[in-house]
Amino acid sequence: MHFPFQNSYATLPDNFFARVAPTPVAAPRLIKLNRPLAEELGLNPAELETPEGAEILAGKTVPDGAEPIAMAYAGHQFGHFVPQLGDGRAVLLGEVVDRNGVRRDIQLKGSGPTPFSRRGDGRAALGPVLREYIVSEAMAALGIPTTRSLAAVITGEQVNRGIALPGAVLTRVATSHIRVGTFQYFAARQDVEAVRRLADHVISRHYPDIAGTERPYHALLDAVISRQAKLIADWLLVGFIHGVMNTDNTSVSGETIDYGPCAFMDAYDPKQVFSSIDEFGRYAFANQPRIALWNLTRLAECLLPLFDADKDQAIKQAEAALDGFAAQFTDAHQAGLRRKLGLFTQAEGDQPLAQALFDAMAAAKTDFTLTFRRLSDAAGSGDLGEVRALFEDPTGFDEWAQRWQQRLAQEPQSPAERRAAMRKVNPAFIPRNHRIEAVITAAVENDDYVPFEELHAVLAKPYEDQPDRADYAEPPQPEERVLQTFCGT
Ligand code: AMP
Ligand code: MG
Repeated sequence: MHFPFQNSYATLPDNFFARVAPTPVAAPRLIKLNRPLAEELGLNPAELETPEGAEILAGKTVPDGAEPIAMAYAGHQFGHFVPQLGDGRAVLLGEVVDRNGVRRDIQLKGSGPTPFSRRGDGRAALGPVLREYIVSEAMAALGIPTTRSLAAVITGEQVNRGIALPGAVLTRVATSHIRVGTFQYFAARQDVEAVRRLADHVISRHYPDIAGTERPYHALLDAVISRQAKLIADWLLVGFIHGVMNTDNTSVSGETIDYGPCAFMDAYDPKQVFSSIDEFGRYAFANQPRIALWNLTRLAECLLPLFDADKDQAIKQAEAALDGFAAQFTDAHQAGLRRKLGLFTQAEGDQPLAQALFDAMAAAKTDFTLTFRRLSDAAGSGDLGEVRALFEDPTGFDEWAQRWQQRLAQEPQSPAERRAAMRKVNPAFIPRNHRIEAVITAAVENDDYVPFEELHAVLAKPYEDQPDRADYAEPPQPEERVLQTFCGT
């Protein structure tokens, strides 16, 4: 079986990683292969679906050309710095250059202990693996930058998470697994040369346009800030809550990474938190832009020695870059909100108009996704009845709807045109927590993957109505509501 590996990270200095092979498992069984992604990566899906393929995807055999490593990184977890985290339950098999010429990491997550495991077992349970598979692929289908899922296998072994659970391995694909925490690892050791080496690697890999420019490290910080600003705007526009925005879970490529206790909200609440470990709401929905900036500030600190020999100058330069975050986030977010509201032009009162809708939604706790999807159809038909029905007391909504319709009347687009545009940005289907829970329960308790396949198929076309799957668009019934999600490590 041939993987066209072209590894680059493994050529970096020894202290960037530990060489460690995945630990063989008892009886690997392929649960899911992402065939289109396999093809995009230049891999043969039919081969990956053989027993030999499953052994590779479970880490039982290492394919030719792989140079398995666990990457070193540090990170701020809930604001507290941990100088050494690293891949404690993941192994990077290697990199391939995909059909579009993009270098992609192929990583096994849950593949056994590494020198970074600390007290962990290096394993993953089936539930979190299925959750990450579903949510990351849903994000990709929504058009949001994300790591991808190539495969899920069960290992035939149990993992102990208080109770015994089936073990699983996820094959994760990313443009790289380099995190803000990777920079922090070297900065914390005052290893400026390693920071520079890492920065050069990141530039050549993710931001090749800035290589050879006058101030490449400043441009690198600017570029990472831009991607994060856009990414967080994307999250907010679909109601996504990452849940653990630690600096080790912040990718410098601007992809969403490390799906743990993440969730899409049902009822709109800017203070929404799902993660059981987020006691103080640090990573609440509406806090995410602020936290991203905090994380980027940590990255900027690592880069200071590359900016200027004069520390005060370096700090000034970093501050100037970080000042750019707010405007870039706001621009991306507001442009996205205008699209969600069906506005083709920009006008003075658009931001307050959007805010007034969110205020009404928050007061009535309407379903985030359903509100915008129904609004899209209402823009076409002129009939607001279905949206209105989401508000128990529609007074606030009625007032808002009048303002909205007056605003729409200033634009020449036809209702049909507007509806079509809105339906491309307001999904019908998101990975709802109660559906994910049902998928996990069926798989873990009954070895039944039909719900997984169904949910996955629905989420592949989030912007299309799927009349025979309309129930997947529905919010949870009160008794189905998921109030908490868990890291599941
Ligand atoms: P995460 O919460 O997945 O972002 O992981 C935070 C840190 O804990 C990383 O260094 C992980 O590699 C490590 N970790 C998480 N789960 C395990 C596990 N089961 N075994 C070993 N290390 C783990
Ligand atoms: Mg992590």
